[in-house]
Amino acid sequence: MDARETVESMLRPDLRGRTAYGAPQLDVPVALNTNENSYPVPDDVVASITRAVEEAARGLNRYPDREFTRLREALAGYLARAGAPIAPEQVWAGNGSNEVLLHLLQAFGGPGRTALGFTPAYSMHPIITTTTGTRWVDGARGVDGPGAFDLTAASAVAQVREHRPDVVFLCSPNNPTGTALGLDVVEAVHDAGEALVVVDEAYAEFARPGTPSALTLLAGRPRLVVTRTMSKAFALAGGRLGYLAADPAVADALRLVRMPYHLSTPTQAVALAALSHADRMLDTVDVVKDQRDRIVGGLAALGLHPVPSDANFVLFGGLEDSRSTWQDLLDRGVLVRDVGIPHYLRVTAGTPEETTAFLDALSALVTSTA
Ligand code: PMP
Repeated sequence: MDARETVESMLRPDLRGRTAYGAPQLDVPVALNTNENSYPVPDDVVASITRAVEEAARGLNRYPDREFTRLREALAGYLARAGAPIAPEQVWAGNGSNEVLLHLLQAFGGPGRTALGFTPAYSMHPIITTTTGTRWVDGARGVDGPGAFDLTAASAVAQVREHRPDVVFLCSPNNPTGTALGLDVVEAVHDAGEALVVVDEAYAEFARPGTPSALTLLAGRPRLVVTRTMSKAFALAGGRLGYLAADPAVADALRLVRMPYHLSTPTQAVALAALSHADRMLDTVDVVKDQRDRIVGGLAALGLHPVPSDANFVLFGGLEDSRSTWQDLLDRGVLVRDVGIPHYLRVTAGTPEETTAFLDALSALVTSTA
């Protein structure tokens, strides 16, 4: 046996033969594949972050504040802007919202339990679920909706009743399709069973007007959780800070599974400094939304089929061979995402220059194959 086989033979049986999450990290002129914010952190915020980290460095001989109290206060203050009063006790955070989701599955999933999601949705939901020994049920979107990727309340409720999951994932706006869910769907899914309902709102800040957050439903619903991240609109993907709002009892339960001191002192300092400049950090959201809408228009003009988007990316169909279009775009220096849906690709909305580069490269391809 070679080393690989030896390791494979020791591996948990349910992990054998699996492939790891793998969005390519390539050095390309135009990287539009992981839904980051293309704009760098503004200079004045960089200065604040640097000062905060320098201050924090002196205390690195001590463990960080295990309760990240100031950070929870700042995050609660930020969420209150979404129209729902959130108390610091309702907030939990982790190293990216992926870790927050992991905490949820560690606490509320596990062997003998089931989580249901509506595919296509965020590819890490099933991965996080199954790494905790929880059974994943691949529910479907577009069963009875007018659009291929819509999720209606009736369809979601029927699937919840059929599978009786312990945890339900809703993703709004949904990655990779881009569309947000109406609160009627969230309420209906919540009321359809006894599950913990996790609404992943990683892209909430990009939603089109009239798309209320599930944060407004939290009061009186201890089985509802809303997850958010600083990685997208907040332009802080490298800072690794994700969070959730829920009933304080949920946050308490997560203390049972988190590693002590999981949020390092520098992580807390960086996130706090960035949050103290929330308006500056969110300055680019409107520009990005304009680029998203420009991408939708540009793709339609090319005869392709963009899915309406409330996020900072656009899923588009109508491609004969999405794999070869992905490669052809990469050959022209534009990296987009092949999310594994035949005839579709996903592109992140970034700067106007990036949009132009993407649309120009694609139009050259579409014209050359027409
Ligand atoms: N949820 C969704 C829907 C996402 O698309 C992502 C990132 N691609 C995440 C959560 C995780 O982001 P992070 O861990 O950086 O907060």
